[in-house]
Amino acid sequence: MRIALFGGSFDPPHRGHLAIARAAADHLQLDRVLFAPTGKQPLKTAAPGAEFADRLAMVKIAIENIAFTNAATRFVASTIDAPHPDGSANYTVDTLSRLGNELAADDAEANDIFCIVGADAFLDLRRWRQSELLFELADWIVVSRPGFSLSDLTPLALSPLQHRHVHLLEGIAENVSATNLRAALRSGLNVDDYLPTGVGDYIRQHNLYSA
Ligand code: ATP
Repeated sequence: MRIALFGGSFDPPHRGHLAIARAAADHLQLDRVLFAPTGKQPLKTAAPGAEFADRLAMVKIAIENIAFTNAATRFVASTIDAPHPDGSANYTVDTLSRLGNELAADDAEANDIFCIVGADAFLDLRRWRQSELLFELADWIVVSRPGFSLSDLTPLALSPLQHRHVHLLEGIAENVSATNLRAALRSGLNVDDYLPTGVGDYIRQHNLYSA
């Protein structure tokens, strides 16, 4: 199976998230994409605007009823990156190790494991815990994002082998961020055009991101 971890705050999930996951699934013929809201992001200093349970619920709504070019593809909401009981941060290196172990235990067949990230996140990868190991645990699907250039990856100092584990998808230009959506929602604006179907209703019903 070709399976990708797609981690993020998803605070809230937006159309950019869906667009990049679809592009990754189409280009890399993924069977499954695990949308995994992160309990506590080590590199984000501010606490999430919504609780983990709400972010997970919104992700479930966001990925309902999506049609794929490849009929074998499935988007799945995952709790693999749920908050730790002791409140400690979630590190992708641990999540990918756990995913690899769980898949190996469940399935005798070899699995190809990928990790989907936007350009902004990937350009920051050297700040992530055990960044060398990250390239051994997964192939990286890196999707372009307005404002972040993928034309020069030299600051990442990738070895030739690490380069072979990186797949750049540069044709995507989704100008949307959760930070801007939270700010707009706090001002009382309607941002439904930027949200997957049903997520705006969930936000209103649960009074999330209000001033
Ligand atoms: P925030 O503004 O709160 O930091 P975000 O919009 O970047 O949030 P996250 O949930 O933190 O969303 O992102 C999860 C992953 O999706 C990251 O790898 C990020 O780079 C990627 N991503 C999010 N939005 C886009 C976008 N518009 N284009 C490309 N990648 C994106």
